[in-house]
Amino acid sequence: MATTLDTVVIGGGAMGSATAWALSRQGRQVTLLEQFGPGHKIGASHGTTRNLNLGYSRPEYVAMLGETLKLWAELEQESGDKILDRTGMANHGPDPRFPDIAAALSQAGIRAKFLSPDEAKERWRGIRFDEKVLYMPDGGQLNPEKALPAFQRLAIANGSEVRHHTKVVDLQINEGSVRLTLESPSGSEVVTANQAVVTAGAWTEKVLGGALARTGARLPELRVTQEQPAHFRVVDEGATWPGFNHHRGFGDEYKYWYTPIYGMQTPGEGIKAGWHGVGPVVDPDRRSFLPEPVQLAALQEYARNWLPGVDADSLEAVSCTYTSTRTEDYILDRVGPVIIGAGFSGTGFKFVPVIGRILADLATGKQAAPEVFRLARLTV
Ligand SMILES: Cc1cc2nc3c(=O)[nH]c(=O)nc-3n(C[C@H](O)[C@H](O)[C@H](O)COP(=O)(O)OP(=O)(O)OC[C@H]3O[C@@H](n4cnc5c(N)ncnc54)[C@H](O)[C@@H]3O)c2cc1C
Repeated sequence: MATTLDTVVIGGGAMGSATAWALSRQGRQVTLLEQFGPGHKIGASHGTTRNLNLGYSRPEYVAMLGETLKLWAELEQESGDKILDRTGMANHGPDPRFPDIAAALSQAGIRAKFLSPDEAKERWRGIRFDEKVLYMPDGGQLNPEKALPAFQRLAIANGSEVRHHTKVVDLQINEGSVRLTLESPSGSEVVTANQAVVTAGAWTEKVLGGALARTGARLPELRVTQEQPAHFRVVDEGATWPGFNHHRGFGDEYKYWYTPIYGMQTPGEGIKAGWHGVGPVVDPDRRSFLPEPVQLAALQEYARNWLPGVDADSLEAVSCTYTSTRTEDYILDRVGPVIIGAGFSGTGFKFVPVIGRILADLATGKQAAPEVFRLARLTV
């Protein structure tokens, strides 16, 4: 006899875990299903650092920044874990958006101020600063290895069930319910649920593509890439480090650049730096986990030129997946009994608790997602 559940969340990465927490806080009965074990390194939410970069000017994203700062603080309070290390963010380079970002943040009550490269160097001598520096002291690094277990632990404390090593191998969308076939070490089973939240990251197309097409709706193209930042060994032990984004300038000095650079200090591992969204397109179930050597060499050249506080020849590559839409806007929408959260690229972690709240509100019918995140907008 098939079991009937209330809300199933498919995918126990950052977004699924935050959604389970948000739903459980609203007293909903939640079952979180994750194909791999706790702390796995096969998706997009592993490791101990992600930048909480505040460098946004678009109103939908600035609104989410204000809420995310509040919700991360609530998660820390409820869990007793320190998840955000407020090192500040120092974005630099000739970024034409800086004035709009500074104006939008100050309007939202989020601190931001300009520093000269020399002033910034005074504070953070491990970085060579470029042209203009926008300093945002409320930013810093989030720790996924603390955040995901905290979300799940609190959801369980509120009555949710979290099942690792449980893979959804089939999803059928019916009128007002979904039918799921699960595979786990104890065999295969079929469950029915009133609704399902799909936060399957790089596997979203595999989990949902066919089922959605049968309803006449469709997913926008989701590009899954294997990204490869690297940790560089710190040589200047006394230096302190903000999170940073470095925007490309013009001229020969930037000719080897692929994209703007992001970076941060990962305690115990070094200074992480990476190109954004230029890794090879991959099938998440057939990845090499090996760095692409030409991009890695360019990253070393970047470190040699712009990060005097590290040894550019002593590095450890990291492998991780981005799932991106054409516009890099996220998908937050509902189709019948299915709620979709996907396309969080290399920028979604900072917004995790807000995205969890938006997906929970979609599941409880409390409110629709902002228009910018709707399927219809991304499938034109
Ligand atoms: C290298 C790198 C650097 C980044 N840096 C930043 C940063 O500095 N700041 C920032 O804000 N963001 C950053 N991000 C982005 C952020 O990490 C991601 O947007 C976020 O982690 C995505 O979470 P997710 O839950 O969508 O995906 P995942 O964490 O991949 O979760 C999806 C989960 O679904 C599970 N799943 C899939 N299919 C099934 C199935 N059939 N049955 C059961 N379970 C299933 C998977 O196993 C996986 O655990 C970075 C990402 C990468 C890769």
